[in-house]
This record gives sequence, structure tokens and C-alpha cells, in this order.
Amino acid sequence: MSIREILQIGHPVLSTPANPIDIAKIGTPEVQSWIDDMIDTMRDANGAGIAANQVGIPYRLFIIEVGNNPRYPYKPTVPLTIAINPEIEFLTDETFESNEGCLSVPQMRAMVNRHVEIRASYYDRDGNHQTQEIRGYSACTWQHEYDHLDGILFPNRVTDMHSFCSWSVFQQYQQPEFAKTVRALVEKWGA
Ligand code: ZN
Repeated sequence: MSIREILQIGHPVLSTPANPIDIAKIGTPEVQSWIDDMIDTMRDANGAGIAANQVGIPYRLFIIEVGNNPRYPYKPTVPLTIAINPEIEFLTDETFESNEGCLSVPQMRAMVNRHVEIRASYYDRDGNHQTQEIRGYSACTWQHEYDHLDGILFPNRVTDMHSFCSWSVFQQYQQPEFAKTVRALVEKWGA
């Protein structure tokens, strides 16, 4: 297990669609060590999720975990989830404005439109196929991580360029208001 370097926006691996993982190889030491490294790297950076290509592994795998995260004090908790070859389906047309940052886009945040009800299917680290419906605020994290696997970073999805701001400005001026939006979503959807 080790902490890997997180690639930064502009790196070609981040903008290239990642390759499917051969599900027969999920149990191999190689794939298992990728997962362990990603967990270590995400936790070390206080991330809410990380995609494999963010640490230079060009395969379709991401992980999500939200505990008591100092980077995201307003986020509802999400247990550690490992998603291999994930697929995401939008269950309705309803969307919300998500204020997002990314470990690969240091110090920046902006508003991105995300679906509020999704169904994710994926293989877990034991090679079992899982299907999960995610509603509410946490749905944005899944869509953000999934985008990475298609070579898409959140700045590619920003429609209002005026919404770009630095982390410190976000914390000072925008986080209180955004936290209200998150709380309303959590109240409505439970996540
Ligand atoms: Zn990201």
C-alpha cells in the first residue's frame, strides 16, 4: 500500500477514456494493490473519491468514501465503495447545481449540473456485481468520479464560467449558502 502522486489537470492520462478491467483479474494482486493505493491516496488527500486514472492507472475503477471529512464538512457520509467497470443510468431528468472541486484541479471550484437520482452498477473488489440507486447530494460524487473514467474533468462541465472560484473564496463566501442546498437535498432524499 502506498500513497501515489495525483495527476493534475492537463495530464494526458486524465483526459483519455480509461480501459475496462478484465473482471477475471479483479482478484489479482495487481488490481487489489491499485485499490489499496487509491484508498491510501484518497484518504491522505482528504478526498471524497478518486478515480484510477487520477493516480496514473488507466482503467475503469473509482472509489468513494465520505467520513468526517475536513475538506467537505457539509457532505453526507458514504461508506467506502469500490466501483470497477461502473455504469451510471439517470433515473429522472431532475438535476441540481453542485459546487465541485477535484484533487486533480487544485484550489478551484465551480458549479456543475448533476442528476439527483441515478442507478449505478459495478463490480466490487471481490468481483461481485452490485447495483445501487443513489439519490440526493451523493449522486454528484458518483457522476464526478464516473466522468473521470471518460476523461472528463468538472471544468469541462461548467456552464457558468463566473462560478469558478478558489477554495478559500468558496469557504469564505459560498460554502454557507451551498451547505444549505446540500442540507435541503439530504433532508429530501436522505443522502
Ligand atoms: Zn475529481
